[in-house]
Amino acid sequence: MTNLNLLAKACLGPVADEEVKDRENFNCTGCGKCCTHGPYMRTMSAGEEDLQRWEDEGRQDILDTADIFSWGDGEDRTADLWMDPKTGDERNSDRCPWVKKVGKDNWHCTIHELRPNVCRNYPVNKKQRDEFECPGVWDHER
Ligand code: SF4
Ligand code: SF4
Repeated sequence: MTNLNLLAKACLGPVADEEVKDRENFNCTGCGKCCTHGPYMRTMSAGEEDLQRWEDEGRQDILDTADIFSWGDGEDRTADLWMDPKTGDERNSDRCPWVKKVGKDNWHCTIHELRPNVCRNYPVNKKQRDEFECPGVWDHER
């Protein structure tokens, strides 16, 4: 598995727990398709756990690319990703600001250890994988 694996999106509908758990057996090719797909980038969000991870690590640079809000007092925070840190607007680039091309065909996540859960969990199931034409496979499909 490469370090580019895993983006997940709640907007694709309910996902069975067993499908999400199976992500550990998912083999990412590092093609970078998920991290360089503009329409997908513009739907990504972070949650309280992600925000705390970045705060704990003092990564204000990552926090600056998140439009953080809460649905109500005392509610966990959520955030739209990836925003332009200068304007606070959605980035125009189709690429995640943290992805870097490595060699001819591979892409590397430069915040792999700190990537948001939405990335850790991608793809959550075959439906999502196929919708985004991700070439990765689960162990049982080999
Ligand atoms: S599209 Fe699939 S195989 Fe390609 S980098 Fe993303 S998760 Fe990995
Ligand atoms: S944070 Fe990393 S894994 Fe997530 S979209 Fe950006 S480059 Fe890809």
